[in-house]
Order: sequence, then C-alpha cells, then structure tokens
Amino acid sequence: MKLPLLSLYIHIPWCVRKCPYCDFNSYTSNEDIPHQKYVHHLLADLENHLEAVGNRTIKTIFIGGGTPSLFSSKAMQILLDGVRSRIDITDNAEITIEANPSTIEANRFSEYQHAGINRISIGVQSFNNNKLIQLGRIHNAEEAKRSVHLATNLSLQSFNLDLMHGLPNQSLEEALDDLHQLISFNPPHLSWYQLTIEPNTLFSSRPPVLPDDEILWDIFNRGHQLLIASGYKQYEISSYTRLGFQCQHNLNYWRFGDYLGIGCGAHSKLTFIDNRILRIEKTKNPRAFMQGRYRDKQYEVMLEDRPFEFFMNRFRLLEEAPRADFINYTGLEEITIRYKLDKALVQGYIKETPTSWQITEKGKLFLNNLLEFFLFNKN
Ligand code: SF4
Repeated sequence: MKLPLLSLYIHIPWCVRKCPYCDFNSYTSNEDIPHQKYVHHLLADLENHLEAVGNRTIKTIFIGGGTPSLFSSKAMQILLDGVRSRIDITDNAEITIEANPSTIEANRFSEYQHAGINRISIGVQSFNNNKLIQLGRIHNAEEAKRSVHLATNLSLQSFNLDLMHGLPNQSLEEALDDLHQLISFNPPHLSWYQLTIEPNTLFSSRPPVLPDDEILWDIFNRGHQLLIASGYKQYEISSYTRLGFQCQHNLNYWRFGDYLGIGCGAHSKLTFIDNRILRIEKTKNPRAFMQGRYRDKQYEVMLEDRPFEFFMNRFRLLEEAPRADFINYTGLEEITIRYKLDKALVQGYIKETPTSWQITEKGKLFLNNLLEFFLFNKN
C-alpha cells in the first residue's frame, strides 16, 4: 500500500441566507459569526490529527462552505498562519477559497491573497438577475462581473467561476447567453453544472418549473460545444479548464487521494501503510462543534468496499487511470476485480491498455450502470 497525496479541506459553515436548492452543511445566523472562536476550534481540530498525519506534507488546501468569504481577512490570516505552523505545506501548494460575488466579500480578495490564498472560486451561478433571484442568491449580475474583474486583476495562480444551467424556466438561449458572458472573462477554470433538486431543500418541497429533458439535452450539448470551441478542455463531468489549470485539490479527491477535513461536517479519508483506510466525519452543527465535540463518526473502509470507492471517484475523470493506482491505493490485487472489469469492457463502458483504464463516451452516459459492477456483492 502506498500513501497517496494529502490535501486539507477547511469548512466554514455560515451563509447570509440559505439558497433554496442547497443541501450543503450551511447555516444562517442571527448573531455575528464568531470568526476568531471558530478559527481556534478549527486549529484544535487539526491538532487532533497531527499524530496520524506524521511527517506527510499537505499538497493543496481548499476553504469551502457555506460561504468562507464571509470570514474577515484577519481571521483568514490567523487560520492559515495557524495551519502553516502546525503542519508542512508544499511551497507551491494550491490554496483555494470559495467566494460569493457580493461587494463586501469581493473587496476582501486582495487581503485573502496576502494571507496566502492563490486561487479563488467565485459562485457566479448566472448573469441573469431574474434567475439569480429565483436561486435565492444575494448578489446580482453587476456584482458578479465586478468580482470577476477583481479576481482577474489580482494575478492569482488561477481562479474558477461556477455557473449553473437547467435553471427554472431557462431557455437554451438564456443558458448559452450565460455561458458566453462567462467565457468573455476568460477564466482559467470553470465549473458548469446542472441544477438538481436535492432532498430536504426548499426546492424539493416547492419544486420550480425546470426545463424539459429535450431542452436540458440541447443546453448541455450546445454549451459543451461552445466551451470546446472556446479552447476549454473538459476533464471531469462538470469541470472545464485551460491547459494547465486543472483544480489540483479536486483532482486529488477524484484520483482517490487522501484528505484531512477540519470544521463542521468535514469529511476525511486517510490511508495508512498497514493497509487501513480510515474515514472520519466531523460534527455538523456549529454550536456542538464549538463545544469541542469535533468528531462525529469514524470507520475503516473494508476491503470489499474499496473497488467501488476507487472507481466512483476515478471514473468521474476523463483522463486515463493508471492500473497501478488501483493496487497502490486500495491495497487489492487486480485479480479481485478482473471479472467486473471484463464485464465493463464487454459493455464498452471502459477501454483498457496494459497500463491504464479509461471511461468511454458510452461509459459516461451509463456511469451508474458502470459503477454498479464494482459494488460489493454485485456479480
Ligand atoms: S451560498 Fe452556497 S453554501 Fe450558502 S446556501 Fe447558497 S448554495 Fe448553499
């Protein structure tokens, strides 16, 4: 068993308002957000993992939420200084923060950069004000444009723009107009993903009228072609990039890398050279978390569950997957899944070379069927 790359995820759980489609671990608060107190607990949470991490080095950091850009730049500086003083971080580590485009938050971008952040991921979602209102977003199109200009002028290592499609009553023209506007900013990386209605959200109890399947298909097809014609490469289901700007943090998740998650509801996956893979889930509720009850669940990933976990991540990526990674990072021999691979090959869901596997166009369309082959007890 080899140790994969290690990333750090930091969760900031507060938002100004809960968006009706959101199923993330996020909370609104009537009181002021306790920036410094929460940072203190994040660092205490991190300290509890130092023995397990040993002398491993963090390759990427992602500060997500919630809305991390609600945090003051001072709190962010204390947080990142605190992380750096406790754990090794590679010199050129990608350090991303998720940000909302509202004016106050955009004004903090340069201070975040000063704290060591070198990549900003901005939740634009749409440039159409009506759609932004329907999505319950607190920013408008002008603020989105201004925040993108600010990010562009900072000479960051990279930045990402999030854009949604398949919005309530969205036409093909409206979706393409959003995409044209996004591309005009020439972002190095963009996440273009379809609105889905998740359980336990406001939209699930009061569903909006979404475009029908035919329009959704046209939006995806025409949008995808537009992105490719504009010089973007799709490397994951919803992720497009200019050459050399893939999100290293997300790549590590999808390549079955290790990650340490600190903060409310954060997840960790840690591999040990004695063949154990440990998953840890943190307490979701901020109040309970700040009483020092950080860890909610912890369990080992059983050998029989590893093939599904490996391919569930790996086949989101369109790149070739080295066959050696399966052996190195699951601790299993290939023979244990040979018949499952053969079934996937017969169905035309994957391609195989002496050194790699790769998902095919058909595999992308039937991803759930493909992954089902690797479930324990499925023949
Ligand atoms: S801003 Fe993001 S995390 Fe917060 S409620 Fe909206 S979608 Fe969820």
